[in-house]
Amino acid sequence: MIGAGVLSLGVKQLADLVSTIDVPNASSAREKLAAIEKFGRFFVGELWDSYVIPKFGKQAFDKSADDTPHYDVIVIGSGFGGAVTACRLAEKGRKVCVLERGRRWDVKDFPRGPSDAWFWSHDEPEQHNGWIDIRAYPDMAVVQGCGVGGGSLIYANISVEARPFVFERGWPKEISYQGLKPYYDKVGRMLNVQEVPDNQWPPKMKLMKEAAEKAGFGERFRKMTLAVNFDPGFSFDRPDPCDDRHSKPFENQWGLKQGTCVHCGNCDIGCQVGARNTLDLNYIPQAEKNGAVVKPLHLVTRITPLDGRTGYRVDFDRIDTDTQRRIPGHLNAERVIVAAGTMGSNELLLRCRDQYGTLPKLSPMLGVGWSSNGDFLTPAFYHDRDVSPTRGPTITGAVDFLDGSVAGQYFWVQDGGLPNLIKDALGDLSIGNPFAPFFATLHAISKKGDPLASVMPWFGQAVDAADGVLKLSRSWVPPFRHKMHLDWEIRNSQAAVQALVDMHKTLSKATGGDPQVPPTWSLLKDLVTPHPLGGCRMGTSATDGVVDHKGEVFGHPGLYVADGALFPAAVGLNPSRTIAALAERIADLM
Ligand SMILES: Cc1cc2nc3c(=O)[nH]c(=O)nc-3n(C[C@H](O)[C@H](O)[C@H](O)COP(=O)(O)OP(=O)(O)OC[C@H]3O[C@@H](n4cnc5c(N)ncnc54)[C@H](O)[C@@H]3O)c2cc1C
Ligand code: SF4
Repeated sequence: MIGAGVLSLGVKQLADLVSTIDVPNASSAREKLAAIEKFGRFFVGELWDSYVIPKFGKQAFDKSADDTPHYDVIVIGSGFGGAVTACRLAEKGRKVCVLERGRRWDVKDFPRGPSDAWFWSHDEPEQHNGWIDIRAYPDMAVVQGCGVGGGSLIYANISVEARPFVFERGWPKEISYQGLKPYYDKVGRMLNVQEVPDNQWPPKMKLMKEAAEKAGFGERFRKMTLAVNFDPGFSFDRPDPCDDRHSKPFENQWGLKQGTCVHCGNCDIGCQVGARNTLDLNYIPQAEKNGAVVKPLHLVTRITPLDGRTGYRVDFDRIDTDTQRRIPGHLNAERVIVAAGTMGSNELLLRCRDQYGTLPKLSPMLGVGWSSNGDFLTPAFYHDRDVSPTRGPTITGAVDFLDGSVAGQYFWVQDGGLPNLIKDALGDLSIGNPFAPFFATLHAISKKGDPLASVMPWFGQAVDAADGVLKLSRSWVPPFRHKMHLDWEIRNSQAAVQALVDMHKTLSKATGGDPQVPPTWSLLKDLVTPHPLGGCRMGTSATDGVVDHKGEVFGHPGLYVADGALFPAAVGLNPSRTIAALAERIADLM
């Protein structure tokens, strides 16, 4: 040191200083402004952290030195990746703890009324820790489930295998369809997947098959495999067929109460008769039977390698719903599996690398290669037929274009469904959510009669370009929090999504329907996805991936990722079975 002193800057001097910032190599004024804006956010945020937090705020880090491993494995998240790995590792005799940010839902607590716990809030999870996590980014909104069981709580029960060609593009050579097949089968058995029995096809499923045949694609129609229990004796022909009293109750092999499907259409908001085989009814109780501990309302905030020994410290905030406070805590384990879902895992790891600096060796590929899986929904209106999308499980069939023979794109079309109670809530849903334009259209029609009877929500997925990038940057508003952002450009994915939209139109018109492509796509090219994938892609090294084919993070031994974030490319169909099969493989190799 050759000198020392105190530099005092007042607001005016600071403003003068900031106004002299230049970006000499910028190629345009826009680029220049963007660079200054980025630097400004970084600079103000650092000032805040360096001067304001130490003086007035809470200590950012709990520095207690406890390096005893409490568990062999901590699993973060309890969806398809987390529940499966926790279950299989507990079966192997490992001491497992699952930390899940959401609640452990009971049938009686499923959200139904407007004042129920619908939403998860990233800013105030101690107050809003509900069923759905919606993140809105420019041109893309992402919907995910929240609670013990993860996305299985909210999903449409479709459990299907990816096509072999998917694994020939971008995946490490160790991952192939043939190699995953035994794991796919294992998942299918555990979730007791089955098709809608032929005597119970709801009207939308019949419409779908008819549309495929009339449009010349009859041989492409597929019945879906669903994680739902059906009663062969169910009939739509009896009075009030969808009433809960027609469900046949039974006890599953873990002693939990379930029932058979009454085709009420409520799948995405929780099945009140327990017909869906969600993960909290199979993999999770099996994990607990083998000693795993599941801790709901534990939001993991940071992962730090233990000093001088194998293992990691996992910091979390326990959400106390009585006092509506977050209570910090931590646990240690020799191995940690990050299975917080695509958005949750990317965010947690980005924070550990770029905000806290606790996992500095994470690959520069972290956050790169994000995919929306090409999801799209087009409502079509029928004037002379009853489609009743509130009848039957949310999705029942598909028309398969995953051979690339139409428009050179890979996609498949499915029927969508709507929960019965949406009928009553259309007015409220027409503003302030990513599906608002769709609900507003329905609301307008509802004034003339039953809004839903005549609507077919054509749904589907397409293999998009998987070129989104997730990154952390600071907010401009005090306390200048780091937030995860998604850079998403539709350019390279537009043709795939448009092929799906065009097929929705073709199938609607072939059956006398009037397709209404929402202006959010026709004008703005905005999308909503329930299937986010990628960002922690499997690769061969840290230069092309974040984890290896066994899910282990490059540069941080003993740290794993096991969820949708692993995918280096879109699958173009519902991904949960593939996520679960990969998790089975990761646990098998651990
Ligand atoms: C409405 C809807 C319908 C769907 N239908 C289908 C379908 O029919 N078929 C299909 O295959 N897929 C479907 N999906 C997609 C499917 O739900 C997801 O692909 C799947 O759940 C992803 O599994 P995952 O293990 O990656 O993450 P998730 O299942 O999302 O699990 C991640 C878990 O981690 C928790 N978590 C996140 N951050 C933290 C943290 N910091 N600390 C602790 N816990 C955390 C979350 O609360 C969540 O429980 C649907 C999704 C939605 C939203
Ligand atoms: S349609 Fe109704 S009864 Fe059947 S699985 Fe879905 S929510 Fe349960």
